[in-house]
Amino acid sequence: MKYFIPEWDDRVDPGYDFILDKHSAQHDSDPFSDHYMWEIFGLENVPFDGVLVSRVKVEENKIKKRRIEELGIHKFLRLPPNFPVLGDCGAFGYVNEQVPRYDPIEILDYYQKLGFNIGVTVDHLVVPKYAEQKDFRMKITYENGLKAFYEWKKRYAENFLLLCAVQGWDVQDYIKMMKSYQSHGVENFGIGGLARKPTTFIVDLINRIVEEIKSSGKVPNQMHFFGLARISLFPHFKKLEDLGVQVTFDSASFLRRAWLSAQNNYMTLDGKGYAAIRIPQIGENSGLRGERKLKDAYNISELKLLEKECLEKMRLYDKGQCDIESLMSALEKFDKATKQNRFPILREHYLETLKDTPWKKCSCPICQKIGVEVIIFRGNNRNRRRGFHNTWIFYQIFKNPNRWFVRLGIEHELPEIDLLNLKKGERVLVITSCTKEKLGYTSKVKAPAKNMYRGLLFKLVKEFCEANNFDYVIISAKYGLLFPDEEIEGYEKVLKTRKDVDVIRPVVEERLKKILDKYEKVVVIAGTNYLKTLENVLDDRFYQVKGRGYGDICSKVKKALDTVLTKKIYEFIYASSTTK
Ligand SMILES: [Zn+2]
Repeated sequence: MKYFIPEWDDRVDPGYDFILDKHSAQHDSDPFSDHYMWEIFGLENVPFDGVLVSRVKVEENKIKKRRIEELGIHKFLRLPPNFPVLGDCGAFGYVNEQVPRYDPIEILDYYQKLGFNIGVTVDHLVVPKYAEQKDFRMKITYENGLKAFYEWKKRYAENFLLLCAVQGWDVQDYIKMMKSYQSHGVENFGIGGLARKPTTFIVDLINRIVEEIKSSGKVPNQMHFFGLARISLFPHFKKLEDLGVQVTFDSASFLRRAWLSAQNNYMTLDGKGYAAIRIPQIGENSGLRGERKLKDAYNISELKLLEKECLEKMRLYDKGQCDIESLMSALEKFDKATKQNRFPILREHYLETLKDTPWKKCSCPICQKIGVEVIIFRGNNRNRRRGFHNTWIFYQIFKNPNRWFVRLGIEHELPEIDLLNLKKGERVLVITSCTKEKLGYTSKVKAPAKNMYRGLLFKLVKEFCEANNFDYVIISAKYGLLFPDEEIEGYEKVLKTRKDVDVIRPVVEERLKKILDKYEKVVVIAGTNYLKTLENVLDDRFYQVKGRGYGDICSKVKKALDTVLTKKIYEFIYASSTTK
């Protein structure tokens, strides 16, 4: 198995001065001279096996495009010619266009001229947004793949390996396209469109491919899975490898969560994600995202003092010369002054990070070199280095099968949703959880699930769903998954440990899978342990209502409920006044 990292200009200034927050002279004269991950780690320690370069990314920037055309892809990236560089189109870049942006034959020339080691045929993504075009998009992908394959065999096969792109709507589509390719002699495949699919879909697909290989005896040479660096998939990829398939995959999600994740910015080998400590840089006109005219709205000199205090205290804390309370209060003051108001949400996460000091225990070259700076959320040079650290951690887990079974909570961070943005008539499923407060606690008490649970959050969610005509289901520590009208008996069980989660997960998955297809959006209003039971079924329709704790989430649901009810009253008054 091989891991490829997508190349999206992930570079840092090797001479960056963290104390003065100043770039090196080298960076100022040519930002392209900043170092890639392989230059920071050294080629022998680099935490991936290849680099993926998408054509849409190459052509995004004119200077970059010209330099790559002049130098070739390896020289531009400052990599030796034998280091695998995989080229693709970057189909996400033209997903909204009628047809792919590139010609199926011309792209072969592009791969050859720039010196790619591996290239993928021109594909078109099959996505729910363009569901009505799915057959058309699959047809284009297949025809482009086949055309390119025959041309490649004639003229390019000596120079680079060609993967024929496979796209599909359901598992059967993928299998069908692969088999059609195979009947023409194709042995290398690039499987696309899976990045946003739930793990269960991908596992089903892999199992079907395994069956096909066993029954047909046709073993693909190489299969690349695009956008799929999920630790839970490694054991399944292994099944393909055991049959003789070279499996490769890519994803930058571990790198990028260093700055994109709300609170899982720094990963550790045991699968934990820590929040980085946010100390944004203050400048006269910039520094806080979206706040261009800082000096009009803020007292800059005061902000700068608070910023300096936070940085100094972080460094002192790292040396054991400042206590945690003093550091936390500096962070809180600064957060208030910047009007970012993240501190209340992040307080518990910060405490965890600061108490555990994970950066002190990491042996990666980044943490070894810059120490506490890696955990500070501040500018490209710290944030991207933290991403490099994450990539290193990911690769250590990948290379050691004993670690494959760490369950990464951070693999599934759901986007937040505001209930007020849900529209009536949307096909929404709400997933909530059972509550400690019940009608009764023994088998003598029987009632429909919707009447059994008496907790405040449950009641609010129920009323909110009923008012909107949204379906809802309940994750129960005892029963797994319940529909509101199912009659159940009272019980005491609560979801506490990892084992509790593992016990009910199969039931939750089985029952959910049967109904999920009906919904456009799935909104989870439940605590972390309950969320863990959903790990394998999550896809890009899932959202979560997030808050600073139980009370905060209750008040969000209450607010949404009140809004719906008020609207209903107005509608009622309006309706009765017009009928009169
Ligand atoms: Zn590290």
